[in-house]
Amino acid sequence: MNERVLAQALKRRQLQKSEELVEFLNQSGDDVTLSDFRRRVELLDDKDIIMSYITCSSCGEMFCTYEDALLAAESIGSVEDWFDNMENHHHR
Ligand SMILES: [Zn+2]
Repeated sequence: MNERVLAQALKRRQLQKSEELVEFLNQSGDDVTLSDFRRRVELLDDKDIIMSYITCSSCGEMFCTYEDALLAAESIGSVEDWFDNMENHHHR
């Protein structure tokens, strides 16, 4: 996958999961609606969506560099395999 293909696949994934993501956001105090959330995802550019998947949502640390994320995607055919390949990040 190149950058474009990876970004599109991540966007599709986020849209598929949008109902549970919105529920989660609502619980954490963000009162975004489903349609606003979908619009938000549509407006993200390729780099924004990829960055959101390689940055830890609780501490802001990056799992790998942006370049490494793209390099990994080049040799990998699916988003699921790309996730598996990302370095595991755990909180101590
Ligand atoms: Zn973290």
